Amino acid sequence: MKINLSQFAGFCDGVRRAYKMVSALDVAQIPKPIYILGSLVHNPDVIKKVEENGIQKIDYKKFLKSKEGEIGTLIITAHGVGPEIFQMAKKKKIKIIDTTCPKVIKVQRLAQIFSKRNYEIILIGDKGHREVEGINAWGEKKAKIISAEKDFKKLKFSKNKKIAVMSQTTQDVNFFEKAKEFIKNKNSHAEIFSTICLATHDRQEEIKKMAKKNDAIIIIGSKESANSTRLFEIAKEKNPKTYFIENSKQLEKKWFVGVEKVLVSAGASTPSWVIEEVVEKLNKYRSLKN
Ligand code: SF4
Repeated sequence: MKINLSQFAGFCDGVRRAYKMVSALDVAQIPKPIYILGSLVHNPDVIKKVEENGIQKIDYKKFLKSKEGEIGTLIITAHGVGPEIFQMAKKKKIKIIDTTCPKVIKVQRLAQIFSKRNYEIILIGDKGHREVEGINAWGEKKAKIISAEKDFKKLKFSKNKKIAVMSQTTQDVNFFEKAKEFIKNKNSHAEIFSTICLATHDRQEEIKKMAKKNDAIIIIGSKESANSTRLFEIAKEKNPKTYFIENSKQLEKKWFVGVEKVLVSAGASTPSWVIEEVVEKLNKYRSLKN
């Protein structure tokens, strides 16, 4: 069995940057206790490493309820947050370590600028996803969020308002194109910004091209990770022998009986050591016969 490893598998630049920033923290020098808003990366090994460094996870609700002095430092993940978190942290005298990916910041700024210009903002993204919530908050929570084709019908276009369209950085490229076309047909003057990150775009394009050229596909990532889930869905549509795993323990030998070529890809939040373990285990299945 030939193992083809995706050239894009593993941490994207934004996640790598956030992980490096947090790993390099001199925790003795910053106010404690130290919390991280959500998960730095959707991976239990990384979460464990972060916790070993004395950093605990806090959710949005608990952060909102916290009183002054209960949090010393708050780490913002690569997904970013809305401006209210920064305002609240300032009020509660909390030090902020901001690891928001610069590509996410770009979309946040677009939402902010066009909201101030009184545009109608259409955001193509997953409702409830942290990045989408953050971008929407920068746009004063006025964005219409489009997550699926069924949402197209709900779009009402006001004659007096200009329209700006942007997307979650990890959005499905095909869905974004469909949404773009729909909006352009309704309003040819809509200003459309392709804000899907290149890391996401490249991974999706590679899977589309390679899915049928391999007998089986392994996608490594967390079910909580939007970009990993999207990668799995794209691959599964093209190749039914696609499996979504979090780590090597979840690999099943029977999947590879008679398989000549297997493609291994991974979401942007999957650490390299998890990918290496999967490839190592797959190597043991190389000689499986029909
Ligand atoms: S997927 Fe792209 S936008 Fe998202 S964190 Fe990674 S580099 Fe940044």
